[in-house]
Amino acid sequence: MLTDRFGRHIDYLRLSVTDRCDLRCSYCMPDDFKGFEEPRHWLAFDEIERVVRAFARLGLQRIRLTGGEPLVRKNVHELAARISAIPGITDLSLSTNGTQLEKKAQALRAAGVTRLNVSLDTLDPSRFAAITKRDALDRVLRGLMAARHAGFVPIKINMVAIAGATGEEIDAMVAFCIDQRFVLRLIEVMPVGDTGRNVAPMSLGPIQERLRSRFDLIDGIVPGAGPARYLVSRDGQFQIGFITPISQHFCDTCNRVRLSVDGILYLCLGQNDKVDLRTPLRAGCSDDQLEALLRDAIQRKPLRHEFGELPARIMRFMSSVGG
Ligand code: SAM
Ligand code: SF4
Repeated sequence: MLTDRFGRHIDYLRLSVTDRCDLRCSYCMPDDFKGFEEPRHWLAFDEIERVVRAFARLGLQRIRLTGGEPLVRKNVHELAARISAIPGITDLSLSTNGTQLEKKAQALRAAGVTRLNVSLDTLDPSRFAAITKRDALDRVLRGLMAARHAGFVPIKINMVAIAGATGEEIDAMVAFCIDQRFVLRLIEVMPVGDTGRNVAPMSLGPIQERLRSRFDLIDGIVPGAGPARYLVSRDGQFQIGFITPISQHFCDTCNRVRLSVDGILYLCLGQNDKVDLRTPLRAGCSDDQLEALLRDAIQRKPLRHEFGELPARIMRFMSSVGG
């Protein structure tokens, strides 16, 4: 098992397969962003598989495909099939904005992706267009239905809580998720990149208490690798998670690291500590050397983010590492 110097077991890799995206969410990527990684720097599927196999030999069990938008990378279902077949990988999930799910949900399910998170901040078409700079709400809603049809259970909806923009829509989203039997997760915006810093943050504590009494919710536990704390309805049918990196950080139980499309292993979302895997991979390192690199990297994982003390620290955009 991989254990860092603070005794945390690292069993979860968030794997960014692209830094590109077909949306431009205001808190994530600038509208006119041009600084994408060059294709020659993208890890090939063979290279990604090699890294995941090495991680799995060291005890890592869970992978989440993310991005940018993972479904804009060509043939990502083939990568999913390769990863889900790796001995030791017991959980393969995907985070998506949902725009391409209508045509890709079946193939992803068949490839062994078992859990799906779909980002959706609003059910209002004009507000969706204002946040994402694209007119794509209908496509996302059709994608969600296709995902359910393909057999994904549960489907989690990730909603970033932005004061003034989506805050007032939370009740509508709760009603939608109760009706559709989706798990809802509210996320506090993080000061990652100028995009993350330019959005008015909103603490989820008061919202949690308001929703608890409005919808008669009680504390609950929902399976998953993440840090969300959940409220559930008394009949257990509806679940809502609160991801509060800012108002109540969860670094003590952090179990994850992140690999970017250009092969850089990021050890904390809120710090700059990283290890280049692409150079040794392309220089022909052995499996033993790769495993040693990963073990050493885990020892360099920082204790915690400092979003509160040093909000300007992270210059990269969320889309470049995968949220
Ligand atoms: N494109 C996919 C999607 O939107 O789900 C996967 C990548 S996206 C970077 C992963 C998650 O990060 C999404 O749920 C998104 O809402 C969240 N995210 C992006 N920027 C954020 C920020 N500044 N603070 C908090 N969450 C953010
Ligand atoms: Fe794209 Fe996801 Fe970032 Fe939105 S949050 S711009 S969908 S990567």
